[in-house]
Amino acid sequence: MKNVALAILAHPDDAEFLCAGTMRRLLAEQKWDIHVATMTPGDCGSAEHTPEQIANIRRAEGHAGAESLGALYYCLEERDLRVIYGEAVLEKVARLLNRVRPSVVFTHSPDDYHLDHEQTSKIVRAATFAAPIPNFLHGPGHRESHEPLDRIPHLYYCDPLEGKDSFGQPIRPAFRIDITSVIDAKATMLECHESQRAWLRKHHGVDSLVESMKDWSATQGKAAGVAYAEGFRQHLGHSYPQDNLIGELLGSL
Ligand SMILES: [Zn+2]
Repeated sequence: MKNVALAILAHPDDAEFLCAGTMRRLLAEQKWDIHVATMTPGDCGSAEHTPEQIANIRRAEGHAGAESLGALYYCLEERDLRVIYGEAVLEKVARLLNRVRPSVVFTHSPDDYHLDHEQTSKIVRAATFAAPIPNFLHGPGHRESHEPLDRIPHLYYCDPLEGKDSFGQPIRPAFRIDITSVIDAKATMLECHESQRAWLRKHHGVDSLVESMKDWSATQGKAAGVAYAEGFRQHLGHSYPQDNLIGELLGSL
């Protein structure tokens, strides 16, 4: 497996909140290739633009954000509030895995505030399991552009928004990664999502995207004894890698 990390999250700007710092450290310190995919182009994230207009704007912001981090960006072209576990999207994500060939995958917490996040988590979990199975996409009569993965990649769940489930119960990370050295790069990536400032103020009551991200990163940092951190849980079910590769490479707190 190559030294490649792929974040597959629901919406443009999710990676910027949840795992961009850790990805940036993998690039800067370990020379990994990093990739960011979103399930949707953020087509409902506006009160002024049509879905198609805001999707175009946000796809461009997703590209710009990923580029500022040193990552490649992909949009899987599902639609906001309609990310639903199913055969077609599962195959789409498995094909992305076979194309990018990550050894580490980041996705959303299985419990989160937004059902698009929870469905993404489920789809990515299923796709990481399916992508190495030859008969899943590569059975007789099927011609695919990319071979099945060599093995199931390491799968990590990012923190849910505000670190809680939909009952308000805390979801604590299994470990944290110090992102103090890359907090500016994470902020720069988030600043590329210009269209979301007005929308989040209106719909989520959030004044500053960057301040919200820094506040959350500082909350995890404080718990770990550093300025800024990101929290993760690793998928450790049967047949998934059991070693904490990210923790070993970057130091887990
Ligand atoms: Zn989201």
